[in-house]
Amino acid sequence: MGELEEFRAQSRAWLEANCPLSIRSNMPADEYPGGGRNARYKNPDTKLWLERCAEQGYTVPAWPKAVGGAGLNKDQAVVWQEEMRRINARPPLVGMGISMIGPALLEYGTEEQQQEHLPKIASGAIWWCQGYSEPGSGSDLASLRTSAVEDGDDYIINGQKIWTSGADNADWMFCLVRTDPDAPKHEGISFILFDMTTPGITVKPIKLISGLSPFCETFLDNVRVPKANLVHELNKGWTVGKRLLQYERSSIGGIGGGQKVRSIEDYASEYVGLDDSGKIADPALRADILRHRMNDKAFALTTRRSMQESATGKAPGAVSSMFKYYGTEQNIGKYELLLTALGTQSLGWEGDSFAEDELTTTRAWLRSKANSIEGGTSEVQLNIIAKRVLGLPD
Ligand SMILES: Cc1cc2nc3c(=O)[nH]c(=O)nc-3n(C[C@H](O)[C@H](O)[C@H](O)COP(=O)(O)OP(=O)(O)OC[C@H]3O[C@@H](n4cnc5c(N)ncnc54)[C@H](O)[C@@H]3O)c2cc1C
Repeated sequence: MGELEEFRAQSRAWLEANCPLSIRSNMPADEYPGGGRNARYKNPDTKLWLERCAEQGYTVPAWPKAVGGAGLNKDQAVVWQEEMRRINARPPLVGMGISMIGPALLEYGTEEQQQEHLPKIASGAIWWCQGYSEPGSGSDLASLRTSAVEDGDDYIINGQKIWTSGADNADWMFCLVRTDPDAPKHEGISFILFDMTTPGITVKPIKLISGLSPFCETFLDNVRVPKANLVHELNKGWTVGKRLLQYERSSIGGIGGGQKVRSIEDYASEYVGLDDSGKIADPALRADILRHRMNDKAFALTTRRSMQESATGKAPGAVSSMFKYYGTEQNIGKYELLLTALGTQSLGWEGDSFAEDELTTTRAWLRSKANSIEGGTSEVQLNIIAKRVLGLPD
């Protein structure tokens, strides 16, 4: 048996022995394992699964063992994902820690910062939030005004962030701040980390029409942060911030695998029905699904090629904008087709006339609309692709 096949056999045996049965199913929206000091687990198996994986480094399989990963090379990481998918295992941990700030710290953090933060991210001990957007600074992020002013061994931070996802439960924030107001806008920004319990931080959840509050306003009033929490050089935070966005965009674009989901064909067969030859009875829907499926295949092959071309765990630079843009289009398209297949059963928000699965699909369809905004809008991704990938003039 080759080395990789041996690794596959070991992974399969470990998963069989350690992945609880209730975790081998699609993740319900209220069971996402974000970790953190305030973590609550509806299903005790979610906690058990997180702990078992963290012990082996499987929450971040490709990270080095010294900081809480499993030290897998890129071929092993692909095999690990395949074996997880084979039993439809839920990811043991999700969130900005493992997908965004962790990879950025591996690249730009000091030895001390890596030792301090990465093991806690890998074990799910700390939940991170992202302090980028401000009122008036979204797409034009580099115009941000939250300031950090030196004071002895500290910075004093003042300003406001907005759309901070999960800030009301987060333990730490990674934040972009202006440290030189006189420099050209991209050159006066720094990247800094702080504990959300630091005095001077007020978090106000923003209530949405759905009744949920997935994001918050975050007010920073004279927040004192040690200089040791600055990542990379002073006034060079744009480099780190941009890199982190590439990790974010790759993850929104769907690089890195995922769970099996019930297919559009399955829904269409059930809700629209099949004709005499066993095909989906509505020819227009059938053609749309076929087109979507072919694009999905091409996209999956492209992301896989890109993963294999880049070093393990690295975001694929400006190309991540292509994945973010197209992954978003495909995800939105998928939910449009699902809704077409469900017909009037997609019109429910709550109540007994609708199955749980139908209600979840309708809510997921609405949520998919945010994909084209979060992590930088689709229009902004097209600008980046034009300039940085295709090299078109400004
Ligand atoms: C679900 C979700 C979660 C989020 N979580 C976070 C978070 O945790 N932390 C955080 O900091 N932020 C977060 N955001 C905010 C997100 O990053 C911003 O909404 C996004 O960058 C767009 O900024 P804006 O909302 O200010 O829109 P604007 O920048 O005001 O854009 C408005 C419209 O103008 C278009 N536009 C703007 N500039 C250009 C241009 N140059 N060319 C063409 N079109 C342009 C945009 O595409 C958009 O359609 C989140 C957003 C969503 C939807």
